[in-house]
Amino acid sequence: MKFNISCQEASQLVSQQIDQPLSLMDSMRLRAHLLVCKACPVVHRNFKAIHQAGLKYALRDEAAGGACPGLSSGAKGRIAKSLRQEKGSGDTGQL
Ligand SMILES: [Zn+2]
Repeated sequence: MKFNISCQEASQLVSQQIDQPLSLMDSMRLRAHLLVCKACPVVHRNFKAIHQAGLKYALRDEAAGGACPGLSSGAKGRIAKSLRQEKGSGDTGQL
């Protein structure tokens, strides 16, 4: 298995890790790429900021009684859980 990955592969892993934890190997490959690449850390931060903004919007919607009709209550619950986990991890979510 190759350890060096392309920027395209790195962006796929960044996207994938939003939905599910990466395998140990993929996580190591992504971290190694982010250390040597100048562009991908910026993309990674932007992607994470967009994701967090979406989570905050969804949580605000949930607190307001669910004004977002497109999301099921299950999806809203998963988003709220994810946001609470991110807050608990010490990530302030500041943009
Ligand atoms: Zn890159």
